[in-house]
Amino acid sequence: MKYILIIGDGMADNPVPELDGRTPLEAADKPHIDALASQALLGSVLTVPRQLPPGSDTAILSIFGCDPTRYYTGRSPLEAAGSGVSLQPGDVSYRCNMVALSDGDGPFEDKTILSHSAGSIDGETAIALITWLFDDPEFAAAAAGLHVRVSPQPSFRHIAVQAGGDAQGMAAEPPHNILGRRIGDYAMHGNTNAEALWQLMALANRRLEHHPLNDARRAAGKLPANGIWFWAEGTAVALPNFVQTYGHSGSVISAVPLVHGIGALTGLKMVHVEGATGETETNCEGKVQAALDALRGGDDFVCVHLEGPDEASHNGNLAEKLLCIHYLDSRIVGPLTAALEAEGTDFRMLILSDHKTLMSTRTHDGDPVPFLIYDSTHPTPNGRRYTEADGLKGPYVAAGTQLMGLLFGEPV
Ligand SMILES: [Zn+2]
Repeated sequence: MKYILIIGDGMADNPVPELDGRTPLEAADKPHIDALASQALLGSVLTVPRQLPPGSDTAILSIFGCDPTRYYTGRSPLEAAGSGVSLQPGDVSYRCNMVALSDGDGPFEDKTILSHSAGSIDGETAIALITWLFDDPEFAAAAAGLHVRVSPQPSFRHIAVQAGGDAQGMAAEPPHNILGRRIGDYAMHGNTNAEALWQLMALANRRLEHHPLNDARRAAGKLPANGIWFWAEGTAVALPNFVQTYGHSGSVISAVPLVHGIGALTGLKMVHVEGATGETETNCEGKVQAALDALRGGDDFVCVHLEGPDEASHNGNLAEKLLCIHYLDSRIVGPLTAALEAEGTDFRMLILSDHKTLMSTRTHDGDPVPFLIYDSTHPTPNGRRYTEADGLKGPYVAAGTQLMGLLFGEPV
């Protein structure tokens, strides 16, 4: 028996007026998923405990059997693990975005964030600028004084690690939430360490503002990467070992460091697929091949994560959300199940949205989401589809941490 977890990030939603009151899952073209749902255990699950913020960090921790009320210390340590950055006890890690701040030499506090990704800066320039910054004598001295080092990543998403950092009471705003607003009103705060890091961000802006690469970006009509922004702070975390808990080993296939990191911290393998972008157009076929390779190579569990529906929802793009759901169906679930059936492999497949991402608010929501568990050896007809409403008719699973046990449990 092989076990497969498919996560369509943020695909669950509420009824949308443009779809005549249907949800994207109700309106999307997804015959393969619906065919599985009609013969599966179909229900609803609360992936994120009510007292925690809904997001892929808290939700996917819970799906992998790690109670987020106990193991969630922040987003960054999970991403660090997915990026190969290992944290020592006492380390605090942060997401260190490269951002585009409004130009000029005026007070740092009065600036605004023009882009939380420095205009989707390319990896090569992002690495060049962050490396230069942390080598710059004035900045390097200030960073060293706070025991902050950086792990450059090939995108706007660098990771900073602070040895012995104090994150107690610290509050940091995600930069994508405050676009266009005066940053001084959203300064990192809560303790003296936060205030010191805010000053470090101000110094970074002064040093990067007139860097030749930024002058070149402006001349080319691009946004500068003239700032860094620390957020998503968290302390090193040890997660329960997946193999010890469930008795199954396996792989995690995703474009997103967060999902890889959760997998890696539970002892699963990270599989990187070339051309997997986390956007609508991604290498679905490569993910299917990687999943089949992992299963044929001896894994008995594999997770395939698709980020696209969540991004489309954050972008407020309904057509893309429907397309991403269709791709999950026609380019991942359809071919994967067909290949397993063709080679006579028995399998159980858990499909779910980790959390709702609402078209109406363009952000996450903490309501229960529908899930299905299909067992190729025990199809159980129920006449339902994979939708929010049909999920609510089924069993209600009060904690996401129970899902993996259901996937590995007795035939449904
Ligand atoms: Zn999201």
